[in-house]
Amino acid sequence: MNEILSKARLAPGKLNRAELRMLLETANPVELYQAAYELKCRYSGKKVSLRGLIEHGNHCAKDCFYCGIRKSNHAVNRYFLQIDDVVRMARWAYEQHYGSVVLHGAFVRLGKKSTGTNGATRRTSSERKQMILNKHIEKAYQVLNGETLKEAEALALTEVSGCDILDLVSLANKVRDKFAPAITPCSIVNAKSGVCSQNCRFCAQSSYHHTGIETYGLLKESAILESAQKIYDQGIRTYGIVTSGCGYSEATAEFRNLLKIMDALKAKFPDLKICVSLGILSEETARLLAEHGAWRYNMNLQTNPERYAELIADTHTIEEKISTIKQLQKYGVSICCGGILGLGESWLDRVKMAFACKELGVNGIPLNVLLPIKGTPLEKLPVMEPADVAKAFAIFRLVNPDKMIKFAAGRETTMKDFQGLLMLGGMNSMITGGYLTTRGRSMEDDAVFLKQLSCFTDTQIKKENVR
Ligand code: SF4
Repeated sequence: MNEILSKARLAPGKLNRAELRMLLETANPVELYQAAYELKCRYSGKKVSLRGLIEHGNHCAKDCFYCGIRKSNHAVNRYFLQIDDVVRMARWAYEQHYGSVVLHGAFVRLGKKSTGTNGATRRTSSERKQMILNKHIEKAYQVLNGETLKEAEALALTEVSGCDILDLVSLANKVRDKFAPAITPCSIVNAKSGVCSQNCRFCAQSSYHHTGIETYGLLKESAILESAQKIYDQGIRTYGIVTSGCGYSEATAEFRNLLKIMDALKAKFPDLKICVSLGILSEETARLLAEHGAWRYNMNLQTNPERYAELIADTHTIEEKISTIKQLQKYGVSICCGGILGLGESWLDRVKMAFACKELGVNGIPLNVLLPIKGTPLEKLPVMEPADVAKAFAIFRLVNPDKMIKFAAGRETTMKDFQGLLMLGGMNSMITGGYLTTRGRSMEDDAVFLKQLSCFTDTQIKKENVR
């Protein structure tokens, strides 16, 4: 952690102006944000909130209309800062005023003293508690040194709550920054929809449920090429073909048609990486896919493998899925394998899934957050809280430091204003431009989102498989 920020947190009231200036120049914005958040928690109970005390006038001759420290705004020397304004304002003010000490607000609050009648500094036990890193998170910092997290340690992290979640998120961000700095957006096409013979409890495409989704057979080659062209023009270089159904145990006419489509894609877009998600395969179909240029295969465990039949489906087995993964790995196809959060599983199940992915040696881990779909057995489940989603992503990152961790479906609908928190909490890939049966955020908006996130990292964000 930034040395000056540590000082500010541990020794309130001791920052001088030079240090303040240095803090604004050098601190990681996530940590600043986190410190500000801690302050809010520390003082809001006493109705102090996060009051910004802006020292102004003497230092700033400019008159920016929205700035609390502007020249003509001398009368307004106190106001409340919104938490998420702290970082933005700090950066803005520092850049605009070229070195003047303009931001006393949040960081004077960092120096807020709790004084007794004699003026001596006193801290309550809860204040003291908030200054110390949660012991499980502190232990998990070992991941930054290349050590691995044990299952019991990951499970202990599931107990983290409140302000400490931001400490966990911050650590996950550092781990991603160090071990998985590349960001990989990808896009998918639902090449065959619905009428599936399997009974996956979460899925809108199962014929066991009545969800009213649009159903269709395998799209024509021209439609798939057209959809690939669209994402290619947006600069995305990873394209996934997804079909509903149990899979292909033999090379049926439909499967051969898919191979033909892959050949056409390779011929038209030689630098496009083709991912496929076609369900359970045999050795023969796995080999054929590898021979026809499948770069990556998506086969999700969905949840803790030990509870697959109970939580997901019993018309096929988790062993068939694991066998498919191993066949593909034998033929050199990389594996994208994750699951769904929020389908009634426990934290232990989430941790077990994170370790199962690690043990299988998968390359990417897509995580979905369940959007309960009307007509499925899970339709009445509550949507997961953003704080729990952030915590789960952070734990997956700490267990799998160097893997691509992707937010698949549910990003916009479940995380809403907190989407950025996930990227800061360890994810480094996203499906952009829509999902199988639900719409997503546009690729243009995601491109801006990624650009803005780059200021929260120490390593320059590299983009992978993007023009
Ligand atoms: S096999 Fe795939 S398409 Fe079929 S119900 Fe399960 S998840 Fe849905």
